[in-house]
Amino acid sequence: MAGELILIVEDNEKNQKLLRDVLQVDGYRTVETVTAEEGLEVARAQLPALVLMDIQLPGMDGVAALRELRAGTATRKIPVIAVTASAMPLERRAIMDAGFDDYLAKPLSVRELRETVRKCLESSTGEAS
Ligand code: MN
Repeated sequence: MAGELILIVEDNEKNQKLLRDVLQVDGYRTVETVTAEEGLEVARAQLPALVLMDIQLPGMDGVAALRELRAGTATRKIPVIAVTASAMPLERRAIMDAGFDDYLAKPLSVRELRETVRKCLESSTGEAS
């Protein structure tokens, strides 16, 4: 792990701060946006190693944004973790079926966040080499 860039798309200020603080303490670089539209722009311009994507956002939602990322040649392989309050098993299944690489439920657990991010980055690095 060497300061990978992680894009955080989250409209809730408190969650965004928690995500940013934990990831920065762990040595990652972060860039944050409040909307999916801005997030897509940043993803295309900066090609982050990982995206944390809130599902419920003003304007375009996280599932539509994932679809856009997967449709782009440069962005299709970036791992994307869904961040959502939809913790019911059925909704979790729908989110994984949509093509997210993993899933974090709100309220966020710091331990789970750290483990999920590390796991996602490790498996995407493994794929590339
Ligand atoms: Mn939200």
